[in-house]
Amino acid sequence: MTNRLYYDDSYLTQFEAVVTACIETHNGYEISLDQSAFYPTSGGQPHDRGSISRSIVVDVFCDDLGEIWHRIDQPLSVGTKVHGEIDWQRRFDHMQQHGGEHILAGSLWDLFRGFTHGLHIGNELSTIDVTMPDGRTRLEAEECLELEKLANSRIQQAVPMRAWFPTQQELNTLPLRKDPTTHKNIRIVAAGDFEMVACGGTHPDNTGEIGLIKILGTAPVRGKLRLSFLCGERALRNYQTLMQSANMISTALSVPMQEIAQGVSSLLDQQAQLREEIKHLRQEQVHLKAKSLLDKAITLNDGTKLVKAQLSQETELKDIASLLISEKRVIALLGSLQKEKGLRLLFARSKELDEDMTALMRDCGAKGGGRADFAQGSSKDVNILQMAKSYLLNHRH
Ligand SMILES: [Zn+2]
Repeated sequence: MTNRLYYDDSYLTQFEAVVTACIETHNGYEISLDQSAFYPTSGGQPHDRGSISRSIVVDVFCDDLGEIWHRIDQPLSVGTKVHGEIDWQRRFDHMQQHGGEHILAGSLWDLFRGFTHGLHIGNELSTIDVTMPDGRTRLEAEECLELEKLANSRIQQAVPMRAWFPTQQELNTLPLRKDPTTHKNIRIVAAGDFEMVACGGTHPDNTGEIGLIKILGTAPVRGKLRLSFLCGERALRNYQTLMQSANMISTALSVPMQEIAQGVSSLLDQQAQLREEIKHLRQEQVHLKAKSLLDKAITLNDGTKLVKAQLSQETELKDIASLLISEKRVIALLGSLQKEKGLRLLFARSKELDEDMTALMRDCGAKGGGRADFAQGSSKDVNILQMAKSYLLNHRH
């Protein structure tokens, strides 16, 4: 079984070892060593990366017997002495997230008796799944602040984080936050005098190195409360990104950064007000246009008014047509020119008239449909309105 060097020293980045097995697989080679500082994916913490002699280590995992396997891109003979080196930046990031998780889970237990089941350290953020005593699956905003405050105060105490393998006798006396999930080789991780659980992961030697814990939020997932958080460098980067956005908003709104929420809120109020004003002005404009079209209409022998017009806005077709035919004895032949699509058409008439507008549209060669008093369609022929007008003048009794 591989001797796991990270158990005793999470800060060990280089080591010497001897190859004990090498297996060729469909995507490279898997080797085992007599000892390794490489952490295998387990307990929610992703594997380390780095190199073994000249080979790049792309994956590290553990088999059922406790052997650690390193996936590399070229074979190494059994018995070869190798030099291993782990990617420290990646490892330390995982140590900060994992150490922070212990502090957070301990604080959740102390404040709310929330029981943490599992950790997942993702590429972007980390999560823990928690069972609350009353079964709820969210924390209130104030509770998140309270939890964040306690967890960060424990970080700021900068107390040692210690990992060791106790004897069964000692184990029986330890005040663990939860029962270990295994029975053999139980490794205990403790932080100050406020946190103690069984864990095989890598953590900083001092809570101070976690730097900062930021809770991002809680959400229900499969009946449990999922809490997402960032620690250390990740929390700092997140703060920097948010500050950049807040700064931009503050400058754009010309309000101090502390007041951007009110700034955005009053901007939205203004926008709603302006939208109302625009709606009102549009209605007024449509009324004026309809009136002006009616003034210029041809009056036929029976008093029917014939309006023929090409409008600039397609959106106005319906509104203007409806206003025109709300008057007595009006026929409206309206169109609006669309780029490459020809004319959008709307032929409509007042209720008391009997011309069939759909038939008129089709008789003039346009595509369209609708009711006898209100037809919509289109035509490629830009002379269609004139054609429809002549047709009406010639065919009306
Ligand atoms: Zn741990």
